[in-house]
Parts: sequence; C-alpha cells; structure tokens
Amino acid sequence: MVSDFKITGNLVNAYMVCHRKLWLYAHQLNPDPEMDLLALGRLINEESYKREKKEIEFDNLKIDLVTKDSDQVVICEVKKSSKELEAAKMQLLFYMDRLRHKGLKLSGEVRIPKERKKIAVEWNEEAKRKLDEILQDVEAICKAETPPPPVRRGLCKHCAFFEFCFAG
Ligand code: SF4
Repeated sequence: MVSDFKITGNLVNAYMVCHRKLWLYAHQLNPDPEMDLLALGRLINEESYKREKKEIEFDNLKIDLVTKDSDQVVICEVKKSSKELEAAKMQLLFYMDRLRHKGLKLSGEVRIPKERKKIAVEWNEEAKRKLDEILQDVEAICKAETPPPPVRRGLCKHCAFFEFCFAG
C-alpha cells in the first residue's frame, strides 16, 4: 500500500471497471501516458469544451469542468464514450459528495461530447449509501498486498494495462 494513499475520483472509476486496475492505479503503476485511448480522452477534454472549460483541482479532487445552469453550479465529468457510464456516474458522485462535505450544493452531469450527451447525476441518500459501500471496498482492495488476479473480458483489449496483465 502506498504511504500517502487517498481515494480519488479516478480510483472510484477504476473500481467500477476492474478491481485489478484499481489496485494497479493505487500502487502508482501507471500505464504508458502516450497510449492512444488515454491521449484521446485528454484531447476530448481539451478540445470539446474550450470556451467554458474550467478544470478545478484541490485536495484530491480533479474536476473536468465547472459551469453554471441558471443560478445552479454544475460539475461535469467529461468522457470519451458512454461505455463505462456507471463508472463515470460514480466518479462524479464521489466529487459531489466531497463538495457537499465542504458545504456546497450542486448538480452533476456526465458529458460525452462525441455522442452529444449530457447525463444528469443526482446526489441522494440512496446514492450516498451505495457510494459509501464502494469506498469501503476501494480501501480494502487498495490495502491488499497483491492485486486481484486478471480476469479477461471484452474491455481488457482497450485497457492500458493489457500488456501488463496478459503479456507472455
Ligand atoms: S487488462 Fe483487464 S484485467 Fe487487466 S487491469 Fe485492464 S481491465 Fe483489468
């Protein structure tokens, strides 16, 4: 377990996708930063919302975009496709929950510019309960000495850790 471990939105997202990926990220085994899919994700973030782009980063939160709708502040998680939508929603819920702890009430949206989608995410007690369970699980997995074994699924071939998990 890395010494300065803190749960981040990316770790919550990774948990929803693959528990092994979560462990690898938590132990700072980052994939090649130039890998195409990751680079594409960055490009979409940079290009699609240039005019209203306002990434904010504080504590361990890194929010893609903060904007306004009427008098409501909206925080957005920007994704390249809706393939891992539940993971994106839970990541956003994590940010909303942390900001609520700081006294901010806001709404959330997952935005998928390539598909022209904006999906509203609502913080409520039920969502909060689910998030808390997930956060406990995230911590337990990250504290383990070794990663969960790789389980090959369709998503693996698009994963930046593919070579690491299955080479040889
Ligand atoms: S390649 Fe598959 S098993 Fe390995 S980290 Fe990625 S999603 Fe998980």
